[in-house]
Amino acid sequence: MDTIFALSSGRAPAGIGVIRVSGPQARAALQIVAGVVPEARKARRAVFRNVSRETLDDGLILFFPGPRSVTGDDLAEFHCHGGRAVIAAVESALAEIDGCRRAEPGEFTRRAFANGRIDLSEAEGLADLLSAETEIQRRSAMAMMGGVLSRQVEGWREDLLRLSAEVEAVLDFDDEDDVSALPDSFNSRLTALRDTVRASLDAPHAETLREGFRVALAGPPNAGKSTLFNVLVESEAAITAEIAGTTRDILTRSVALGGIPFTFVDMAGLRDESGDQIEAIGILRAHEEIAKADLVLWLGPEGHGPDGAWEIEAKSDRDTAERKASAVYRISAMTGEGMDELRRALIEKGRTAMPAPGAAALNARQRERLSDAVSSLDAARGESDPLLVAENLRGARLAFDALVGRTSTEDVLDTLFGRFCIGK
Ligand code: GDP
Repeated sequence: MDTIFALSSGRAPAGIGVIRVSGPQARAALQIVAGVVPEARKARRAVFRNVSRETLDDGLILFFPGPRSVTGDDLAEFHCHGGRAVIAAVESALAEIDGCRRAEPGEFTRRAFANGRIDLSEAEGLADLLSAETEIQRRSAMAMMGGVLSRQVEGWREDLLRLSAEVEAVLDFDDEDDVSALPDSFNSRLTALRDTVRASLDAPHAETLREGFRVALAGPPNAGKSTLFNVLVESEAAITAEIAGTTRDILTRSVALGGIPFTFVDMAGLRDESGDQIEAIGILRAHEEIAKADLVLWLGPEGHGPDGAWEIEAKSDRDTAERKASAVYRISAMTGEGMDELRRALIEKGRTAMPAPGAAALNARQRERLSDAVSSLDAARGESDPLLVAENLRGARLAFDALVGRTSTEDVLDTLFGRFCIGK
């Protein structure tokens, strides 16, 4: 096995640079570059030198012997000064050591997975944690990384194994031509398990958490969408002008409001009679966006918005503004009137779509595996032949195993670990 190394701290220049080395040569790397292997898990100061004994830097070293390290292999850390040349020099010194090479993106985490230090859903949680930008994303990723989903699945798997054992017992009896059947409680426990797994599919999705609660601003041209969009995203990103139809394309911007991730979508006016080809395409896309949105803010004529949209009475500072009897919010993006209330309501609405603190938010891959498990459990319920019941229960177990990565295909691993940066 190669020994891998990479800068694991942020981009140079920085105050310090942490270079991690993982693999069978980690110990040798410490001996060669720092002249000493420190006591396990205790920081020690050392002078770093290359093979020609030139002094490169003066820093701290740490040694985590495997298997009690994050990767499960011997792991060394060199904490050097965070300048580009210093880091490059220490990395070159490491590259000169036999069997040492630069790590690929995510390779440290991949080794942790291969060595059974973390399972697949924990690795996914870690990837999410590294890309978390808002407080709620961080909390959910921490929960995933800490194994909430893994423990949940482990519990279901145990229930399943108990059920399987009962079926196997019946099958054994059948061999002896004994008349026996599954216990009465068997089906109700099977159904309960199916219901629990199925209910977990209703939980908020990881995509909502990652991409934010999607709010589309809809209404005819000049309704005030772009102006409201700008105020909501607090920048001057969208074009606002009196000429009808200036927002031709879809404009999206992700922001955090009250710690909740949002994606606001500004789009072309929903006008049917537009003769303009480009704008017609924009209108088509606007309809797609409305379908994709978690919430639509309707700035157009009362009652003409899509189902479930919030009626917004825009430009409330103008005498000429249309009054909406059923307006949920009366706002002026110009004067800021009603904006605090709208923002607060959006945050409340967004929060309900997000996973509760500490709860698992399932990604598409995990949902697919759980759906497979539900289908197999359903199929098992419909069977009276113990042989077929057993077969379907086995199918459910395979789905659980694939979910946590007990069995996983290379492409799933490549996609996941490709999300990490080098050094993680
Ligand atoms: P869109 O076509 O729906 O995106 O509409 P815009 O945001 O471009 O707004 C159309 C016009 O209405 C622009 O001239 C804006 O300056 C004006 N406008 C937008 N919101 C307000 C508001 O709250 N108050 C006032 N007085 N004018 C507004």
